Amino acid sequence: MPPPERTGVTRPTIESYSTVSASTWLTCDLNTALVLTPDLDSSSQIAPAQGMKSLSLAFLVAGGAIALGASDYPVKPVSFADVRFTGGLLGDRQATNNAVTMPFALAQCESSDRLKNFDLAAETMRRRSAGETNFQNKPPTQYPFDDSDVYKAIEGASFCLSVKPDAAVASQLEGMIKHLAAAQEPDGYLYTWRTMHPDSPAHDWIAPQRWLKDPQLSHELYNLGHLYEAGVAHFQATGSRALLEVCLKSASLLQHDFGDGTLRIAPGHEVIEMGFAKLFRQTGDPRWISLAKFFLECRGKGNEYSQDHKPVVEQTEAVGHAVRANYLYSGMADVAALTGDLRYLNAISHIWNNVVSRKLHLTGGCGALAAGEAYGADYELPNRCYNETCAAVAFLFWNHRMFLMTGEAKYMDVFERSLYNGVLSGVSLSGDRFFYPNPLEYDGKAVNNHGHAGRAPWFGCACCPPNILRTIASLGGYAAAVQSNRLFVNLYAQGEIEANVNATTVKLAQTTRYPWDGLVTLQVKPAKPTSFTLCLRIPGWIQGNPLPSDLYAYDDATPTKWSVRVNGQAFTAERNRGFAEITRDWKDGDTVSLELAMPVRRVAGNAKIAATRGLVALERGPIVYAFEGVDNNGSIFDVVVPAAATVSAEHRADLLGGVTVLKVSKAARARRGAGDQIMSDPADLTAIPYAVWANRGLSPMAVWMARDVEHARLAPKPTLASQAKVEVSFHRAEIDPACLNDQIVPQNATDGFAGNFNFWPHKGSAEWMTYEFAKSTLVSSVNVSWFDDTGSGECRLPASWRVCYRTPSGEWQPVSAPSDYAIRKRDAVKVSFTPVTTSALRLEVQLPKDFSAGLYEWEVE
Ligand SMILES: [Zn+2]
Repeated sequence: MPPPERTGVTRPTIESYSTVSASTWLTCDLNTALVLTPDLDSSSQIAPAQGMKSLSLAFLVAGGAIALGASDYPVKPVSFADVRFTGGLLGDRQATNNAVTMPFALAQCESSDRLKNFDLAAETMRRRSAGETNFQNKPPTQYPFDDSDVYKAIEGASFCLSVKPDAAVASQLEGMIKHLAAAQEPDGYLYTWRTMHPDSPAHDWIAPQRWLKDPQLSHELYNLGHLYEAGVAHFQATGSRALLEVCLKSASLLQHDFGDGTLRIAPGHEVIEMGFAKLFRQTGDPRWISLAKFFLECRGKGNEYSQDHKPVVEQTEAVGHAVRANYLYSGMADVAALTGDLRYLNAISHIWNNVVSRKLHLTGGCGALAAGEAYGADYELPNRCYNETCAAVAFLFWNHRMFLMTGEAKYMDVFERSLYNGVLSGVSLSGDRFFYPNPLEYDGKAVNNHGHAGRAPWFGCACCPPNILRTIASLGGYAAAVQSNRLFVNLYAQGEIEANVNATTVKLAQTTRYPWDGLVTLQVKPAKPTSFTLCLRIPGWIQGNPLPSDLYAYDDATPTKWSVRVNGQAFTAERNRGFAEITRDWKDGDTVSLELAMPVRRVAGNAKIAATRGLVALERGPIVYAFEGVDNNGSIFDVVVPAAATVSAEHRADLLGGVTVLKVSKAARARRGAGDQIMSDPADLTAIPYAVWANRGLSPMAVWMARDVEHARLAPKPTLASQAKVEVSFHRAEIDPACLNDQIVPQNATDGFAGNFNFWPHKGSAEWMTYEFAKSTLVSSVNVSWFDDTGSGECRLPASWRVCYRTPSGEWQPVSAPSDYAIRKRDAVKVSFTPVTTSALRLEVQLPKDFSAGLYEWEVE
């Protein structure tokens, strides 16, 4: 029986509705639901938190198919509106987010024409119904998912309003929502790109009929997932139903089109599952959680790119597009919590172990590959990686949900690593410049940030900036949580938390300089004396583990000291699931202090990670460090940080908004001496927190440094090719033919770092490239790596190619007895031939029909 719709505004939360009643009544099959525990291997031991045990008990009592009362996550987050950061790193970042990023993102929605899309859709409907039956508008923006950026910006601004009401912003949002509502078709359909241009698809990604290309790329359901999240956030912030009504009308259409099971498609870009969970929590209408579950159950007939390759409950590894993936796993957690179907929890526990053991960068970034914005293979963790900001944000969502389900600190340990490093790196200290990818290494000049070198103000594909906005605006919601008489503190930050424990309001005032310093003082102020357990997260790094896996290890893994004092007296706290527990009768004025020692740690990557072999990274507390050229005489790839180097922490209030830097002495710089011998000179160095790199202009940056001179990444030795003079049959002004012999090749497919030479816009023609040597030289082979930008440009593999040499009389002759002229993407192709002495070589290339072609690199032996 569905409960009555909830209409009241309660404290806004990011996931779990803290006052939700046992309200969903769904039939659950015992045999499928109880696969949880026996199916887990020893490396993935998870246990649902105490609240979940009662679920299992209900199964056992009733047996067989039973009616199950599921009441959301057993651990309830404290509302972000009840957490104040009053200074320090998180407080400063949130203040900038609210003062700069929020108005900046709202303004970008207008200036980039994203809001105009809604007006054009409304205009098309209006003029058609007035009789202009052929009227339609062409979308002025780039992508059919541009609607979602507006929704996320509204959601982020709403979160800001929940923390700090602001009449002007509330009025601005109400105005924007009028544009959105006007673009909704009478039956509830909302997708500006179709509505403004209804006679034919305005983009290849859109099918002539609604929804049909959603499993590919239309993003109709993706947009709606973000709409529902925004509608709930706006209602909770303002009490206005303006956007929530738009959501409910849309959701009713989905119930009509999908809910009866006539149309079964897997959403191409997940997020609607989380959107429906929020809509359900807000309204109590069981149709919305049924639809969330329905969209999970539709998966299993498509490809890995959108996690559609297997039924979700059979998936065990993170694959495909990383933002899609992490949104899916978060949605599965929500549906598991709200329906009691633990098969989803079982699957995402396995997947989480796969990520944390094999697919996570040290910074907590994930989705290593630029191609497909995707998770790589196990241990495929290049330093010139992709790591989209949105993927790290979505990883926060997923980790937090795992904690809410289990009460295990390890999920918040991983959350903390991602937050302080891979997420905060996504936005500048000024709040209005952004990274889309977050690599662990940068050469100081590559145009790798979606068409920009360095941080950019906005993107054509602008998913990341408003994702940062909404996450930092609601950051307080991750700080603390409650489960019956247990109050968890997960994030240590200067500020105040107000929670309800044991039916008593408890204020916790935190005084700390964390993460720069490990001392945290908590003043406990219950409204009346009351008994509860205060659970303080003891981070994994203090116990000598960068992650709860063997993916990374500290050189010295000795656990460091931590201690607890209660009212000044040493207290021996029991540790339970990663938390130090203090149970007592609390009264106003009680004080707890937690001290976490923060030595500098040297980190090694697992031997199976090719990119970190022979390299070391530095950490202190939850902060991962990076070396930037601007602090180190402009160059860092020649740097060596040997075991004998001494590293000390130094707080610099004047630098980068106030950061603790690491000063490295007795380090070295490698260089080539005479006869190619590698020499080293002593050097003193400075490392900064990774998250604040690229706030001082373009500069090389690296997280992983050589442990010895052999592993220093010196500029490659000059080669015959690199010293040759390059000539080409054609190049446009922006393309530098020197890309051909600059000795920079991609680390992974389309990593955005290795420049390419190409003949575009020439298509289908015969072209050539020549290397002129300083003197006649014996040559016997060439290596060529072809560039192909399918998906974003018009370069493809060549139709054919061959190598010629210049004869003494100046004519070009094909080389004799060449091996196979293989044509394959990216990986170098070697062609050997009868050795010939010549002063120049030429590659003749036949461009493919209707396309151009290009090269990353051309080497000669
Ligand atoms: Zn993004």
